[in-house]
Amino acid sequence: MARIEEIAGKGSMNILITTSEMAPFAKTGGLGDVIAALGGRLALAGHDVKVFLPKYSSVYQTGVSGEASQESCVISINGADYPLRWEVYQDKKSGLDVVFVINDDLYHRPDIYTDRETGLDYPDNDVRFIFLSQAALAIAKRMKWKPDIVHANDWQTGLISVYLKTLYGEDPFFKWTRSLLTIHNVAYQGVFKKESLLKLGLSSEYMLDPKVFTHRGKLNVLKASIAYADKINTVSERYASEMQTVEYGYGLQRAMRARNADLIGTLNGVDYSIWDPATDKNIAQTYDSAHLSLKAKNKSALQRQVGLPVRNKHALLGMVTRLAEQKGIELFEEIADDVLGLDVQMVVLGDGDKKYVEALQAIQERHPKKFRVVIGFDDQLAHQIEAGCDMFLMPSLYEPCGLNQMYSLRYGTVPIVRETGGLADTIIECDKERDTGNGFVFKNFSSDELLEAFCRAHDLFMDKKSWKKLQKRGMAEDFSWNTAVGRYEKLYRDTMIAKEPQVVFEGATAV
Ligand code: ADP
Repeated sequence: MARIEEIAGKGSMNILITTSEMAPFAKTGGLGDVIAALGGRLALAGHDVKVFLPKYSSVYQTGVSGEASQESCVISINGADYPLRWEVYQDKKSGLDVVFVINDDLYHRPDIYTDRETGLDYPDNDVRFIFLSQAALAIAKRMKWKPDIVHANDWQTGLISVYLKTLYGEDPFFKWTRSLLTIHNVAYQGVFKKESLLKLGLSSEYMLDPKVFTHRGKLNVLKASIAYADKINTVSERYASEMQTVEYGYGLQRAMRARNADLIGTLNGVDYSIWDPATDKNIAQTYDSAHLSLKAKNKSALQRQVGLPVRNKHALLGMVTRLAEQKGIELFEEIADDVLGLDVQMVVLGDGDKKYVEALQAIQERHPKKFRVVIGFDDQLAHQIEAGCDMFLMPSLYEPCGLNQMYSLRYGTVPIVRETGGLADTIIECDKERDTGNGFVFKNFSSDELLEAFCRAHDLFMDKKSWKKLQKRGMAEDFSWNTAVGRYEKLYRDTMIAKEPQVVFEGATAV
């Protein structure tokens, strides 16, 4: 108990973060950036932080390796034994430890989640992430390192909160350990055939109420994690309320509502040591708000780089995105010919669903001098698009937080966004008369509304003086982790003193 009182005050904490992504080792989207920045900041603030990440092929490719543990062990999943080794790498700047969880059969593969050949999720993703959650606790114990907080992220590591209360429920080693689950995207839930329940390794008493573990007849890992976590947060306030609705809850809205009292929204921060045009090493010309005219050099460099004619006067629109349903590609597809009928060019960098790849390639065929799509994951080009474009498009169906709109602000690249999730919490419609706002916002998921928002942006773009004022307002905003990290520290302390979630079964039963 003394430990909890100490933590509830200002004491430093032992924080175990489990994640399936962390930049620069493994990244498909915002999660990778968030974990890298948050982990580093917490360590700099004096906490003992260990991030547990699988040693994927992408980690081997960075050439970074840690100190190999002398120990190894085996994790049994449904009768099969999976060997576990680990390495600890310490980031010298922050003092953060990254524990690479090693099982080459499970993780040493070309991509993180999906099989390149089939385009589908790896069929053993259940085993891969059950292994990760069990491994993190097993390793912590072998290191004799007692976490105060276990911070799980999304379904891939959510099971750790289940294991703390089941497999390790009676273990004095974890007696004071509490768990926080951050949901970065409720649409990804870890849904597997019911038979996968056996792989969880739990005795049937824990599965007395199958509604905690299953949803619509299938194992649902996120739902179980929601039921067991001591506290839950998501990455913006707007999304915290949206995810409790039918429209945005992707079937788990009732499970979310059952935990409403323990659910909060915590906006992500931006790592300005990586995303700032004044210091960005990836771009042709650095600039800041006092030297905004230098941004034009990045525009022409980008146009040349992607093979578009260099046109300074044309508005250059950008997008950097996973090509997934969430991102509203089809809204843009519907209005592409209208937009590109004006003096406008556009560059899209993305990777993902074939149908969006094909749709974007078809636009490029129709507008070869105005539209470029680059398929793949390219961090440097992502920076160049932020720096070189005039406007950045995010017409998302939903957007838990979104990082690119905040990056865009800092680069003087005006965001055009749909009013949802973190986009709604960060972007405010520009009012030219009052000199307020930082971008352009549309409400409904409608291509007409997107086109109207684009036209408002384009009109203002023609008024150079007002446009510059708008850019400067955005560049002056501060979404840094300096404030965001304090929100997490508070959340961890609140989690430490939170009551055990008695709602676990009642709430989940109501689902
Ligand atoms: P999400 O997490 O839903 O993908 P976010 O806006 O929160 O969306 O974060 C996306 C992050 O991933 C940003 O850092 C963005 O630059 C990066 N990103 C997305 N797609 C690509 C890509 N194809 N190439 C390079 N970076 C990408």
